Amino acid sequence: MSNIAVTHAPSGLVRATVLRTERVTPNMVRVTIGGDDLGRYEYQGFDQWFRLALPVDQSTSFEGMPQRFGIGGYLKYLTLPKTSRPAIRNYTVRAFRPASRELDIDFVSHGDEGIAGPWAAAVEPGAEVAFIDQGCGWAPVPSDWVLLVADESGLPAVAGILRDLPRDAVGHAIIELFDEADRQDVGAPSGVEVHWLVREAGTDPGSAALRALEALEFPAGSPYAFAVGEQALAAGARRHLVQGRGVPKQHVTFSGYWKRGVAAR
Ligand SMILES: Cc1cc2nc3c(=O)[nH]c(=O)nc-3n(C[C@H](O)[C@H](O)[C@H](O)COP(=O)(O)OP(=O)(O)OC[C@H]3O[C@@H](n4cnc5c(N)ncnc54)[C@H](O)[C@@H]3O)c2cc1C
Repeated sequence: MSNIAVTHAPSGLVRATVLRTERVTPNMVRVTIGGDDLGRYEYQGFDQWFRLALPVDQSTSFEGMPQRFGIGGYLKYLTLPKTSRPAIRNYTVRAFRPASRELDIDFVSHGDEGIAGPWAAAVEPGAEVAFIDQGCGWAPVPSDWVLLVADESGLPAVAGILRDLPRDAVGHAIIELFDEADRQDVGAPSGVEVHWLVREAGTDPGSAALRALEALEFPAGSPYAFAVGEQALAAGARRHLVQGRGVPKQHVTFSGYWKRGVAAR
């Protein structure tokens, strides 16, 4: 579930090559991609995200891929041979350096299951990828303070928002991790308090963040909230804000970034 509005960017399908990888924290792999085609990419910052096309094996081909990923683009993608079309997953731009045409993507290492997580953990420089820009989910309405809620999959998005917020912004960011060692320096404005939480092994993803949200003493005035992460966290945060705190629906952007036990499509 999500109420993020997708922006269909004019850059279309952008091709890139893996330049290097780095384990930024124990469970987060940063893959840096680059290439001349990135000159067409229009960076907006914040939580800008894209549909990332990844090679599945040696036979993967990026030929015939759609330029957009709305319903038409998705149907076009489905007509490509299953045996050679790339896999598609959603990722956030962690950083973009236009001068050198380099773009960083932070992948949660969530184990052996799936395609993107294991791919990032093992990929070598030179691998080909492609992406289709989807714009920013961050769409603030006039408000008195900001509220960010995320698990580790939303850390790149929340870190980007904290980096790009006006320096006089105020509010709270609640970030749940499964490993304390995955904390990053997020460069938050001094008026935004960052609450780092670690969920206990065996507990539901998002449960610690939801508890912290419920216990949070809200500042005066109305918030604009952004809640992303495992489906139950995003939906639960929105429910609590709208039903429990009376925050207007239009003041809450939310998106289930992943769903426990279910592969992305
Ligand atoms: C707008 C948007 C932006 C996103 N940005 C990022 C980002 O910058 N970095 C990032 O790491 N993720 C991000 N995600 C989440 C990412 O798209 C999903 O985690 C995706 O499912 C990963 O694909 P996969 O091929 O590794 O696993 P899949 O094939 O989709 O799933 C395989 C199995 O792994 C489980 N799984 C998937 N993701 C996780 C996880 N994070 N933790 C634990 N188990 C998981 C699934 O439940 C399933 O059982 C974003 C999602 C959206 C919608």
